[in-house]
Order: sequence, then C-alpha cells, then structure tokens
Amino acid sequence: MKRVTSINELTAAIDAAKKDGLEVAFVPTMGALHEGHLSLISEARKHASFVVVSIFVNPLQFGAGEDFEKYPRAIEEDAAKLDEIGVSVLFTPTVNDLYKGNMNVSESAGAIGDLYEGAARPDHFDGMLTVVAKLFEAVKPNFAVFGAKDAQQVFLVKQMASQKFPGLEIIVAPTIREADGLALSSRNRYLSEADHKVAEQISAALRSALQSSASGGSPQAVTESARTVMAQTPEAKLDYIALVDADTFETVTDGFTGRAILLIAAVVGETRLIDNIEITF
Ligand code: AMP
Repeated sequence: MKRVTSINELTAAIDAAKKDGLEVAFVPTMGALHEGHLSLISEARKHASFVVVSIFVNPLQFGAGEDFEKYPRAIEEDAAKLDEIGVSVLFTPTVNDLYKGNMNVSESAGAIGDLYEGAARPDHFDGMLTVVAKLFEAVKPNFAVFGAKDAQQVFLVKQMASQKFPGLEIIVAPTIREADGLALSSRNRYLSEADHKVAEQISAALRSALQSSASGGSPQAVTESARTVMAQTPEAKLDYIALVDADTFETVTDGFTGRAILLIAAVVGETRLIDNIEITF
C-alpha cells in the first residue's frame, strides 16, 4: 500500500494506474476504521482493482460545539488495517492540501440538505459535499463507495455526482451492525456500556418497523411502530423518525408505493447516533 499526503503524489499514483489501464474505486472516510469501512473497501475491490481510501476529518462539516476536536483519530491503527486488507493507496491529506487556504463551502446541498441531519447540524451537508467534490476532483475515480448507514449523505452525494461528475458511479454498500443490531460507527467509541444498551433500541425500532411493513402496515403504521419502540427507552433522546422516499427524500404518506427509507436520529449520552432501514411498500 502506498501512503500519500499531497495531491501531487496522489495524482502521480493514479495517473500511473490509469496508464496501466486500471480503473479506480474510491472510499472516502474520516478514519477510526471499523468493519463498516472495511466492507466498503471489499465492495470497492469488486468494481476496480485499484482502490484508493482517504482518511480526512473535514473541519468544514463540523459545526461549532460539535466533536471535531475529539473525533477519534487512529491513523497508524487504520493504516495497519488497510495494509492487511490490501488497498492500493491511502490518501491522508492535510487541511492545507485540500483547501489551499480557502475554507469556504463550494457546494450547496439545497433544500434536502436543510432537513433531518441538516436541521440538527446546519451547514453540515454543504461542508460534506464540498470535501467530497474536492476528493473526487483529486482522485478522479470511476467508482466511489458510500455506506447506506448515512442515507441522506448518499442521496446528496448521488445528486451532486450526477450533476458534476458524469461517468462516476456511486455504489452504496449495506450497513454493518454489531450482533445486537447497533450500526457500527466511529462515534460508538464514545458510548459507555450503559449507553450501548440504550443505543440498541434504535435498531430495535427499525426492526419493529420492518416487521410492521411485512405484515402489511401502512407508512403511518410502520412509523408509529418505530416511534412506540423508541418511546420505551426515553434515555435515547429522539431527534426524529422520518419515512422518506428513497429516490426523492420527500416524506412518504399512506398510499405510497416503492422504496422508502425509515430514518432515526437520537442522542445517547452525549453522542448523536443515526441509523436507517429500507422498506418497500
Ligand atoms: P465516516 O468515516 O463516518 O465518514 O464514514 C465513511 C464511510 O463509511 C461513509 O460512506 C459511511 O456511510 C460508511 N459507514 C459508516 N458506518 C458504516 C457501517 N456501519 N456500515 C457500512 N458503512 C458505514
């Protein structure tokens, strides 16, 4: 595995691979890698033999008072994991490398970017899209792999890529969970054992919704089912439960047919957790 920090080194490595006729698959991350991240890399490898992983904790997508400073950083552990699983290039740019002194957002997430996670984290999605666009420009991948765990991110990245990066295929990989159902997240490191138990309720609520839909529940009944489960554990401070159309992110109402996503966000202890599940009506 080649480790590069500057865009010049990255470009040289990628140009050489492309000259050899290889396609490039890209997995952007913020590090503190877990099995969820590694599953994206396995998925990337199915699409291209040259896999680039970036680790960059993007200051632009953290709001004031959020966890940018304390976000877990474990670069040497991460590099060892990537070496073992086998990636072609690990790209760990500095803020200067990527932003070149210009820390303004260059991408707008639009109206959907103000909802759900965007309502709780103003400007988060503009900052996320800005860094993803910069990374896409630097890596010039044929494929980029994102986790379904961050459903609103996937929706917005697909929207941006379709407009700005034609020819780039966005691949979505399923959410990897612990045995108890909790979706893996770098932020799970913040959870105490007691918090962890509380956090399990989020995936339990999603499973309950899925069961409700399997037995013919309407969108409203399915959402209520998740809400009832969350209400049993008030220690998980519910921010939102929302059922949205997977293709438009618009709210789903009774009578809807097609692919929907049930989104949940809750704060457990000090930690904001999100999860979702796809439900077809
Ligand atoms: P992050 O490092 O949190 O920015 O995440 C990097 C990528 O990993 C994003 O595309 C996430 O959606 C994805 N990811 C995070 N957690 C999981 C998980 N539990 N399963 C699958 N993908 C995940």
